Formats: sequence, C-alpha cells, structure tokens
Amino acid sequence: MADNVADLVESELAELSQRLTTPEERECLRCYLLRMISEFGCDGSHRWTVRWRDLRAPRAHGLVQRMQRRGGCCCDCEVIFNVFPDYPETDRVLPCAGVVRAGSAVPCDLRSLPRSA
Ligand SMILES: [Zn+2]
Ligand SMILES: [Zn+2]
Repeated sequence: MADNVADLVESELAELSQRLTTPEERECLRCYLLRMISEFGCDGSHRWTVRWRDLRAPRAHGLVQRMQRRGGCCCDCEVIFNVFPDYPETDRVLPCAGVVRAGSAVPCDLRSLPRSA
C-alpha cells in the first residue's frame, strides 16, 4: 500500500515537472529559455533548447548548431545573452507575446505588449 502511494506521488511529481517545463503552444524559444533558466537554472548544456526543439520543432535538427554558430556555444544562458540580446529592460520574466507560427525560433515581439503593471 505504502509503495503504491509513493509511486503515485512520484508519478504526480514527474507529471508536474513535465508540465512546468513544457513550452506553451506559441511560446518562442527565447521566452521559454528565460522562463526555464530563471526557474530551474542553467546546467551548462543546451538542455532547454533541446527540450523546446523536441516538443515544438522536432524537425529542426540543426537548431542547436544554429544557436551555437550565433554565439550560444555552450549552454542555454549563452543562447539568451548572445543570440537574443534584444530583451526589454526588466527585472522579471515577461510573458511571451507568442509567435505566429508555433515552433518558430524567431523571438516574439515583446514591445507590442501593453505596458501595464
Ligand atoms: Zn549557462
Ligand atoms: Zn516570446
């Protein structure tokens, strides 16, 4: 019995972390990376770039190499700093404005968001 409960909790936790790390339908790569890094940190690899690609653009096989060529050579935070340096000055993570085509690695236009809050 106790084993079953433990299993249940474990699978619920796994499900929760799956859900928390799943990119939104139209979330762009940049906003996704920022969200993941601010919540879970960077582990020195491209794991979030790879996860976004696997879930949103599974056929973009060259995506990681493309990010590496553009300066994000070793890890996800370098992708943020070097590939997507054009981020509004803010001390919090902004909600993604959404990309037109799901799976597009082109960053959304955050400036088009209404300036509230
Ligand atoms: Zn990093
Ligand atoms: Zn975005």
